[in-house]
Amino acid sequence: MQNPVIICDFDGTITKNDNIIAIMKKFAPPEWNALKDGVLSQKIPIKEGVGRMFSLLPSSQRSEITEFILADAKIREGFAEFVAYTKEAGIPLYVVSGGMDFFVKPILQDLVPEDHIYCNEADFSGSHIHIKWPHSCDEHCTNECGCCKPSIVRHIAPGQEMIVIGDSVTDLEAAKLASFVIARDLLLQKSEKLGLPHKPFETFWDVIDHVKEVVK
Ligand code: MG
Ligand code: ZN
Repeated sequence: MQNPVIICDFDGTITKNDNIIAIMKKFAPPEWNALKDGVLSQKIPIKEGVGRMFSLLPSSQRSEITEFILADAKIREGFAEFVAYTKEAGIPLYVVSGGMDFFVKPILQDLVPEDHIYCNEADFSGSHIHIKWPHSCDEHCTNECGCCKPSIVRHIAPGQEMIVIGDSVTDLEAAKLASFVIARDLLLQKSEKLGLPHKPFETFWDVIDHVKEVVK
């Protein structure tokens, strides 16, 4: 593979757990569970499901939620070294996340420059949290992704080979466009099932090894 770009998911990939799930478990009323199940089984579009989950949370809890998630999120081993490796190897790295700006950006501060981070925006100006979707689906995607990973990769790296790193169904549409997928959890199962070229990972040390192998 020559001159690839790397597209890396955030929740459950860079961080050990899914931060949206952690926030909902802690703060949302029980209705959020059905929305989560609907999204994971691909019965409810991500945009609708995640938007409705956040609309269950009052904006007045902003500082409580933010403090909780910044303390709760744990970055997966080897991520800082992985970032250093991509810089050294001259491979552009983009974080493309269905997460929200109020936790993605502070957690990645000093690790990934802001112009290489694509995520959703949470608006706390109304009575409940309203999610803004600055990276919605383009004309080629009808999936109602919310943060549309395939649309973003078409915009960032048109026609370029790419490596997608991720953990869930939210990475699947981008993974289908990738030359190589580095996956864990649900995305690993889906990659196996669809026969996408892939390798599994647990830490970013694994990711570094896999990238070194495919980038010549
Ligand atoms: Mg994820
Ligand atoms: Zn889309």
